[in-house]
Amino acid sequence: MTATATRLLDNYIAGRWTPAQGATGEFDVTNPATGEVLARVPLSGAPDLDAAVNAARAALPEWRGVATISRARKLFELRERLVARSEDLARSVTTEMGKTIADARAEVARMIEMVECACAIPTTMQGRILEDVSRNIDAETVRQPVGVCAAIVPFNFPAMVPFWFLPFAIACGNTFVLKPSEQVPMTQQIAFEEIDALELPAGVVNLVNGGREVVEGILDHPGIDAVSFVGSAPVARIVYERAAKAGKRVQALGGAKNHMVVMPDAVIEPTVNGIIGSAFGAAGQRCMAGSVLVTVGEAHDRLMPELIRATEALSVGDGLEERTDVGPVISGAARDRITSWIERATAEGARAVVDGRGPDTNPEGAFVGPTILDEVAPDAPIVAEEVFGPVLSVVRAETLDDAIALVNRSRFGNGTSIFTESGASVRRFRHEVQAGMIGVNIGVAAPVAFFPFSGWKDSFLGDLHAHGPDAVEFYTRKKTVTSRYFSSGQGSGAYFVEQ
Ligand code: NAD
Repeated sequence: MTATATRLLDNYIAGRWTPAQGATGEFDVTNPATGEVLARVPLSGAPDLDAAVNAARAALPEWRGVATISRARKLFELRERLVARSEDLARSVTTEMGKTIADARAEVARMIEMVECACAIPTTMQGRILEDVSRNIDAETVRQPVGVCAAIVPFNFPAMVPFWFLPFAIACGNTFVLKPSEQVPMTQQIAFEEIDALELPAGVVNLVNGGREVVEGILDHPGIDAVSFVGSAPVARIVYERAAKAGKRVQALGGAKNHMVVMPDAVIEPTVNGIIGSAFGAAGQRCMAGSVLVTVGEAHDRLMPELIRATEALSVGDGLEERTDVGPVISGAARDRITSWIERATAEGARAVVDGRGPDTNPEGAFVGPTILDEVAPDAPIVAEEVFGPVLSVVRAETLDDAIALVNRSRFGNGTSIFTESGASVRRFRHEVQAGMIGVNIGVAAPVAFFPFSGWKDSFLGDLHAHGPDAVEFYTRKKTVTSRYFSSGQGSGAYFVEQ
């Protein structure tokens, strides 16, 4: 173990790296490919959160007074800094989370896109005005920051998901508190080194490491005005209900069970590539991962031999090796949970046509190989529940209508895809499926910074989705001003009596 291996991470509060003052414990951050302990993260307590929120509140008046274009310039600078550190960020993502380095580089590119999109704030934050709502009386709506905003994020996108929120929040003149996942806190340490170099007013952006205690503190804290959450469905519900009860603005993005529907006319080779990327990319640990394959009619016989062949050719290993296709899952506990799902499904009648249990890799690592379960009953528990691993369940449907009914039976509605060349099938599918993100011949309808992103049903609680135009809505409050002036001789009309 090296000296850095036992490094205890700091928080970043009021513009300084600060050791946790009220930690209730520590958590080992491990490389899931090797089992190596990379660092220890403090499970911060109430004094740490209070310090961060107080710093953020204190910074609000100064930060919202900074010219909008100057706030945007800080983001331009951040963009340049993150580009310069992008390989460090990507390697950190792979080392602490496990996804392949190619996947990690793509994640960092999308993290940076979020900053680029937030740079448009002088345009996107504009309000509206209408002259003469009554004679010589004008009405205008302006947007102002909400206040202190917090984000609580999951393990599976250590670089990108915090940046669904951070750049947009501060672009709008808010101040910010981030609580990273305690399983993957290291990538944000790099991002915050670059934020520190921006020399923002102290307290504009703060980082508090920890777990449940910090989350609960955020939900109840009277100094926090808005909360964004991304994580599993049960915690999303707790966050949504508790933060809303405390009077906060809240958006809570939860878990998923995403279906990929393949029509008989799908073009096989790119469809197989799309399915494999979706089901097994990031070892199935994406909220947009396709985990149920619905083959319609003869699509099953056309698709399966090629899908099985291509899946068996995937190489499982350490994500830092360029030739690896599928890295480890996040932890030994996750590996055991995923393999017990495979055992349960096969015991209930599914056939493992590719079985990823016990691949020949480093025994210290948390590996599960890509797994395809065929002949899964449409009402099997593995079709209903999130597994969050590289396991694809195959269900057959007779018609597109049956497939749509199957998609809509899920309590989740994060994303879904259809593979077909038929415009008519696509029109029907996109019109009728109950999900927030739709892919057409695309396996992962990935977040695009300048569009809103979120699911429906149990995958999302709230109103405004993440990033894109919704971010400006979420991070601003609207104020409508009605005005007239008398000295020009134009203001003597009666209010709201048309003349
Ligand atoms: P998680 O719910 O375990 O953790 C998310 C965050 O909540 C972490 O910061 C964690 O510290 C905190 N937390 C965990 N348990 C808590 C509790 N009982 N009370 C308060 N806080 C708690 O999720 P995860 O395992 O880190 O991430 C995987 C999940 O996130 C999957 O379900 C995945 O589908 C979901 N996810 C959803 C989206 C989306 O856009 N909908 C995106 C990414 C991940």
